[in-house]
Amino acid sequence: MTKDEIIPCLRFAPSPTGELHIGSLATALIDYMAAKSMGGNVYLRIEDTDQKREVEGAADRMIHNLNKCGIEFDGVPIIQSQRKSVYQKYADELVDKGLAYYDYTESELQSECDGENTSSAVRIKLSGTNTEERIEWEDLVKGKMSLPKINRDAVIIKSNGIPPYNFAHIIDDTSMGTTHVVRGEEWIPSTAEHFQIHEALFGGPPPWQYAHIPVLCIIGEDGNKRKLSKRKDKEALVENFLDEGYPIDALIEYLLTVYNTDFELWRIANPMTSWREFNFRFEKIGSNSPLFDWDKLNSISYDIIANMPKEQINTEVKRYFDGDPGVKITPKQLEDVYELLAVDRGTERPRKDICKYSQILTEFDYVFKKVAMTDQLREYKSLFIDGVVLKDLWYEKIKAWCDEKNIKMRDYTQQIRLALTGREKTTDLFTISRLLLK
Ligand code: GLU
Repeated sequence: MTKDEIIPCLRFAPSPTGELHIGSLATALIDYMAAKSMGGNVYLRIEDTDQKREVEGAADRMIHNLNKCGIEFDGVPIIQSQRKSVYQKYADELVDKGLAYYDYTESELQSECDGENTSSAVRIKLSGTNTEERIEWEDLVKGKMSLPKINRDAVIIKSNGIPPYNFAHIIDDTSMGTTHVVRGEEWIPSTAEHFQIHEALFGGPPPWQYAHIPVLCIIGEDGNKRKLSKRKDKEALVENFLDEGYPIDALIEYLLTVYNTDFELWRIANPMTSWREFNFRFEKIGSNSPLFDWDKLNSISYDIIANMPKEQINTEVKRYFDGDPGVKITPKQLEDVYELLAVDRGTERPRKDICKYSQILTEFDYVFKKVAMTDQLREYKSLFIDGVVLKDLWYEKIKAWCDEKNIKMRDYTQQIRLALTGREKTTDLFTISRLLLK
């Protein structure tokens, strides 16, 4: 970058009207990756101007969960509700210039409805605009875009003294020096109004580039594709994925996979590299809304867990159980889980036993139960486990014994597996036997 080049500046601007869900995490991640790939900065702006819909404590929880996901922001968060006087000053200036007006009707109406003491709303004069005129922009994701200008007077300060998004966005992104506005594609229809507000305030079109990203959807109850909702889709909340024990990297890699058409190939070419090194480019964002897909998430997560080094998985599992997922696990059980997870780890073909840490409780449930000893198990223990340390020896002994008895070794070990674990398929039987019969 040369000295005169502008340092890219992005921001993630969530509204604290609900908890952070996987769709908003995707936007934050794109902001973060875009900023880092361009050598720029990314800020957090809390857009708490919709006080009626605001959820108490949501902003703090969002910041906390974003941190947990490893998305760090530069500087301190900007809180819109603390900037009321700034927005008012700009609105007053527009009124002074004759480009906006105090709308007393609106304020009277509002105060009657709310029973509140309200001041007047402010509207920007846009009616009379020639709608034959269009605004045009080159969207970083959607390409060439064009919309007719709007010709109604839009509220820029509500009667409670707070600006709507449309006004606050323009002022904030101007004063922050934003270079790229990354936001959900649902904002596309309002973009004409944003251009017109910018024109009135600062002259000319906004200096930043827009990237309208497709929103993550699911198939709703009626069978139709719909946007994920903070309120309805509780299972899509980031908090929920963390409670279930999905590794954070799985969430992130899942989102990078569904949003960036070149991520999967990059991952194959760079299996050991951190996702942070991925060279993000806006033009590689697909233009269709991705459908949230549990199978895909799980398959990415199985791979990630299978390929984690031993120390890392142990640390993550311990952290998961220390985080009180509703079960108490004893130190011995935790050690057993570590042993089971260590089977074939670091080999060419690592096992894919779990895709989330809560699955330990079901997949390795036998660790949490007492073995019901039978005569067969007692015999197995004394013949093949007591005093046997090496897996090869264990195997040879069973094989010789089965040959002598003329029974199939596979049938015998399968009976033992079932008796020990209640399951037909498990990880390595030798490891399980040593843990449960020692
Ligand atoms: N608060 C808006 C939202 O949550 C932000 C849009 C933007 O990033 O400008 O959709």
